[in-house]
Amino acid sequence: MKPIQQIFSQLGEPRKIVITTHQKPDADAMGSSLALKHFLEKLGHAVTVISPTNWAGWVNWMPGTAEVLDYEQQRHKADEILENAEWLFCLDFNIFHRTKHMAEKLKQLSCIKVLIDHHQEPDEASFDYGISDTGKSSTCEMIYDLIVNAGHAALIDKTIAECIYAGVVGDTGSFRFASTTASVHRMVADLKTKGLTHTKVHEQLFDNFLENRLRFVGHVLLNRMEVFYEYNTALIVIPKNDLLKYDIRTGDTEGLVNYPQTIQGIKLVALVIDRDEERKWSFRSKGEFDCNTFARKYFEGGGHFNAAGGRSSDSLEKTVEKFKQVIQENKSLLQ
Ligand code: 5GP
Ligand code: MN
Repeated sequence: MKPIQQIFSQLGEPRKIVITTHQKPDADAMGSSLALKHFLEKLGHAVTVISPTNWAGWVNWMPGTAEVLDYEQQRHKADEILENAEWLFCLDFNIFHRTKHMAEKLKQLSCIKVLIDHHQEPDEASFDYGISDTGKSSTCEMIYDLIVNAGHAALIDKTIAECIYAGVVGDTGSFRFASTTASVHRMVADLKTKGLTHTKVHEQLFDNFLENRLRFVGHVLLNRMEVFYEYNTALIVIPKNDLLKYDIRTGDTEGLVNYPQTIQGIKLVALVIDRDEERKWSFRSKGEFDCNTFARKYFEGGGHFNAAGGRSSDSLEKTVEKFKQVIQENKSLLQ
């Protein structure tokens, strides 16, 4: 993978470009994809954003979301656009299997592939150009850097600023995680001068659910959370029936994993959801417990040091049993 700076001089010539991101795109994935799309369109490129799956309703306010293709729903059209693409930008993931059913198609494409990501252990061999920096708060911050470093800061308008800001807010836990550097705050100051209305973005992201979702949160915290004080760990297990009963949609479970972190002394929070095709895990830690290694070792996943995800094909009962076993193995790391 050659350094991203080597594409800067090639940005002037209009091309057919596809931008894609990880399945179930969150604010950073969708925000970075759309910010890059709007920027590249200003340079005259023809750009399509393709999401591997559907996404949460709370990103729909971002300008351009209506034109994003959902690969699971529009596979034929998306495949055709992918086959004609000259450049493929892969944002906020670093290994093709994170794009689910799109993975095989992406591997086969012979176009130029560019990676922009901040997760650990990138599959660099699969990309021609790129940047992978785990020190960055978000992929959105990296898109900002790309635009500025390529000499196009003047092209950042209110739309681009709001897409970037959304991803930064999402991935920094609203500016509380260690990844919130001085550069992040400087960037936000600059985005404000470009017309960013930050209160609007917060409302769109966090005050945009239906009543059933809040009732669901109450139910989960009361009935589906277990605390293992011996291991400084909290576990939330969500069976399929709960999702049906409360009519839970993509994005409604975002943020749930943060609630147990408010309990004094908790170092690890795990959340598992019984989805149709798999059991999906989320892990969050404070301090020295490495969620990325934990998720990779036991649950076919990965991510960041303090926030990672994983999966299991086992039944909900079995995967929960495994979790309870492996926190015993990790007891010393959880003290
Ligand atoms: P979340 O728990 O919010 O779904 O994910 C936390 C972090 O881990 C995100 O940065 C996400 O991209 C990453 N992540 C989530 N699931 C997986 C997974 O199955 N594999 C890998 N490599 N990363 C994941
Ligand atoms: Mn991200």
